[in-house]
Amino acid sequence: MLKYLLLALVVIWLFYSPALRGKLKGKPPAPPKPAPASTPKQAENMVQCAHCGVHLPEGDTVKDGHGHLYCSSAHLQAGPSQA
Ligand SMILES: [Zn+2]
Repeated sequence: MLKYLLLALVVIWLFYSPALRGKLKGKPPAPPKPAPASTPKQAENMVQCAHCGVHLPEGDTVKDGHGHLYCSSAHLQAGPSQA
């Protein structure tokens, strides 16, 4: 009887363990897609990263849901820095 109780606890622990849950589902986090280059042959817009302020071509930016542009997905996750 105790054996089944322990087994149930292990199963519950496995199910709720976030580290293992990610592996079991086998779903890697999708990288954010860069904006599609829909502009015709023109000089590319230079924009500023909302986090670190570096200037880069608009096509190389990562956009978030609020219209902010970032130089990398790391800065996208860090969010805008407006001191
Ligand atoms: Zn940046």
